[in-house]
Amino acid sequence: MNKLIERIKVAARKEKPDSASLGFGQYFTDYMFVMDYEEGRGWHDPRITPYEPFTIDPSASVFHYGQAVFEGLKAYRAEDGRVLMFRPDQNIKRLNKSCRRMSMPPLDEELALEALIQLVELEKNWIPREEGTSLYIRPFVIATEPSLGVRPSKKYKFMVVLTPVGSYYGDQLKPIRIYVEDEYVRAVSGGVGDVKTSGNYAASLQAQQKAEELGYDQVLWLDGVEKKYAEEVGSMNIFFIINGEAVTPALNGSILGGITRASVIELLKSWGMRVREERISIDDIYQAAKRGEVSEVFGTGTAAVISPVGALHIHGETIEFHNGLIGEVSERLYETITNIQRGKEQDSFRWVTEI
Ligand SMILES: *Cc1c(COP(=O)(O)O)cnc(C)c1O
Repeated sequence: MNKLIERIKVAARKEKPDSASLGFGQYFTDYMFVMDYEEGRGWHDPRITPYEPFTIDPSASVFHYGQAVFEGLKAYRAEDGRVLMFRPDQNIKRLNKSCRRMSMPPLDEELALEALIQLVELEKNWIPREEGTSLYIRPFVIATEPSLGVRPSKKYKFMVVLTPVGSYYGDQLKPIRIYVEDEYVRAVSGGVGDVKTSGNYAASLQAQQKAEELGYDQVLWLDGVEKKYAEEVGSMNIFFIINGEAVTPALNGSILGGITRASVIELLKSWGMRVREERISIDDIYQAAKRGEVSEVFGTGTAAVISPVGALHIHGETIEFHNGLIGEVSERLYETITNIQRGKEQDSFRWVTEI
């Protein structure tokens, strides 16, 4: 497999940024992975090349009709120096699911995984070591055929770029405030809400801006038909702890199936907690919260892992959870998952790939 990926060397490596000023997705490493697709020829020329701008035709179909899908995962540096990735096979599988839904050619999953591994191996000195930091991996596929015909493109590029990212929270898990969005919707059943396609994000920005203007951090989306059932948050899935049981919206075709979500469900069950995946109306959440039955709310996603929710704005009212502090379940999940990711805790679920 190694030989399949061609390498073109950079003239000089860049200076690495200071770990304290990383933020998210601001600095990119020295190399990227690229592979091309052409109808009749398939995917070809996998290569690791210097990270740099590339030319693309103005009429490339990605600019006009939006065939674009992506993934996001992280590589971590363990205390003993090992380089670890969290469930990368799941991201590749989901990338292919996204490709199929957007009429884009799926990738050879083994080769795509090998591409991630070789690129991260080459760039491992870019993985920051401080608590909470990591190397974020962004694989994506775009349609590159220069044609304005409305049909699937006949040419594509699969690329992977890497960016060292800072701690999402600083030192402390900080609860976020969420605005339950009852005007705009993110996705509908039968649409593309259950795949990671770029347009979903473009469509979400206006509601996100509105939430920020109103003093909230993120939006909780409701279903696209009745605007009644909880779906997910920005780029996270959502969990409620109600009367000691975990409740999360069932994957109904318009919710993105998060890998963190799936991992949290497995962990909670292994701890003997009941987990219900079902349709949950925001009214029921409101009523349960009013009765004091909702002890914790949290989001799950690769970027933050676990993001405790301190407040939800529902029906013109802001309801606080856990006194705006972090709940025990959220904290235990965060500790357990981040410890597994960094090789500090036994990987009993075999989630970690060592490079
Ligand atoms: C990526 C994403 C998530 C979280 O998925 P993870 O695999 O846990 O990172 C949730 N919702 C949306 C809309 C997403 O794009």
